[in-house]
Amino acid sequence: MGLLDRHLEIKTPEQIGLMRRAGLLVGETLDLLGAAAKAGVTTGELDALAEDNIRSHGGVPSFLNYGHPPFPGTICASVNDEVVHGIPGSRVLVDGDVISIDCGAIVDGWHGDAAITVAIGDVAPEVTELMRVTEEALWAGMAAARLSGRVSDISRAVETTVRSQGDYGILEDYVGHGIGTEMHMAPNVPNVAHRGERGPKLVPGLALAVEPMVTLGSSETDVLDDDWTVVTADGSLAAHFEHTFTVTPDGAWVLTALDGGEERLTALGVPFGGR
Ligand code: MG
Ligand code: MG
Repeated sequence: MGLLDRHLEIKTPEQIGLMRRAGLLVGETLDLLGAAAKAGVTTGELDALAEDNIRSHGGVPSFLNYGHPPFPGTICASVNDEVVHGIPGSRVLVDGDVISIDCGAIVDGWHGDAAITVAIGDVAPEVTELMRVTEEALWAGMAAARLSGRVSDISRAVETTVRSQGDYGILEDYVGHGIGTEMHMAPNVPNVAHRGERGPKLVPGLALAVEPMVTLGSSETDVLDDDWTVVTADGSLAAHFEHTFTVTPDGAWVLTALDGGEERLTALGVPFGGR
């Protein structure tokens, strides 16, 4: 692969094709988990399902043993006021919960990373709305990406989409990221636009994970004693949606979406760049 500069990993079209395989495995795994997440199921059971599906399709869970202390799961399972990095275990999901499931896999050395938030049974209308707004912001961010545009175009679209629809908190301490031969690479992809910070130029072969984390209250967070679980400081509920995507000369391609993002991108008037 060529390196545009020291910081950004630029993939060839063939390498992006390999990333699509990892992305599809992540997308398929999240599809399974979304259907399996029901009242009475533990987050640990969801984790086992994810690990089985990834390994049985030739992938490796990328979260497992990541970081310090080593993350002990295949998925992050973040329930209610947990925003991201929740550790799966014996917690039983109950009606009215909202769970964010983040999943990553490596296939032949290439990474995919995506997240969904799922309502368990009946949740309050404002929670359904929070989920809708967060997912819409993710797609607006990806739809704003143009070759020769900037990473800040994505950030601005995410922020504007959220802020235009209510008094939500948008996490700033946690951001999206470049992705490829590692899960977390340059550049950062913030969910808010900062004046004067345009970020790197968007070029073919750059792959990014966009992941708005939005709350019904404050954007301030704390980390629990397990050194991983990020919770809202005010106890408000949170949602998190993420996709890995790239922009080809033909348009955007959402590598972790089952249809490559074609349906939603088309609805947003954005050319589909997948194949
Ligand atoms: Mg993720
Ligand atoms: Mg990520």
